[in-house]
Amino acid sequence: MRLRNITGSREVIADSQYVIHEENWNPGSWNEIFGNDNPIRIEIGMGKGKFIHTMAGLHPEINYVGIEKYSSVLLRAIQKMEEEELPNLRFIRMDAEDITKVFGQGEVDRIYLNFSDPWPKDRHAKRRLPSGEFLGRYDVILKKDGVLEFKTDNRPLFDFAVEELEPAGWKAEVITYDLHADEKLVEGNIMTEYEEKFSAMGNPICKYVIYR
Ligand code: SAM
Repeated sequence: MRLRNITGSREVIADSQYVIHEENWNPGSWNEIFGNDNPIRIEIGMGKGKFIHTMAGLHPEINYVGIEKYSSVLLRAIQKMEEEELPNLRFIRMDAEDITKVFGQGEVDRIYLNFSDPWPKDRHAKRRLPSGEFLGRYDVILKKDGVLEFKTDNRPLFDFAVEELEPAGWKAEVITYDLHADEKLVEGNIMTEYEEKFSAMGNPICKYVIYR
C-alpha cells in the first residue's frame, strides 16, 4: 500500500508520542517502554493499522507494536490513535529487514503478517515478508513457543510461503485456503483493511499459523 506522499507526514511522525523513533530503538527494552511485563505482539506491514488498533482495544493485557515502512500510511494509524488513544499500542516506521535492531532475542510473543506485498518477480522473492530470509529474522525475535500468523488472498504468495516453511525449520499448526468458510478458525477473526476489500470481492482468504 503506497498512499500519495502526504505533506507533513514525516514531521507528524517525528513529533508523535506513539512512535518509537530510531534513536530510542533498544532491543530488550519493550517491557520498559510499555511499563509492564505483558506479552508483546507485532504486526509487520500494518498499513493504516485497523487490525492492530482493534486487537489492542480488545486485549489491554497484551502490548502491540505496529510496523510500517511508509510515513504516509503510518500517518493514518497515528490519526486513529489520536481519536482513540490506547496505552498498549505503539508504532515504528521502518523497513522490517532491520527488525532485529528493534526487538531482542525471544522478545516477541506473536507476529502477524496480513496481506503482505506479493513482490511477484522471482528476483524480489527475498523481499516477501513470509520468505525464508524473513523467517530467519523472525526466528531471532520470536520467543521459543511463539507463533506467526499470516493471512492473504494471494494464492501464489501463500503457496510460496508454505513452501518456505520446511527448509527454514518452521511447521504449520493451522493451514486454511478459505478462512471465512471455516466456522471454527474464523471465530474471533479481526478483518484487516485489505481483508475487507478482497473478501467483499469474493476472494477466499488463506491463513496459516506456524511455529518451530
Ligand atoms: N496489513 C494491512 C492490511 O491487511 O490491510 C496492509 C496490507 S498492505 C498490502 C502491505 C503493507 O505492508 C503496506 O502498507 C506496506 O507499506 C507494508 N510493508 C511492505 N513491506 C514492508 C517492509 N519490508 N517493512 C515494513 N512494512 C512493509
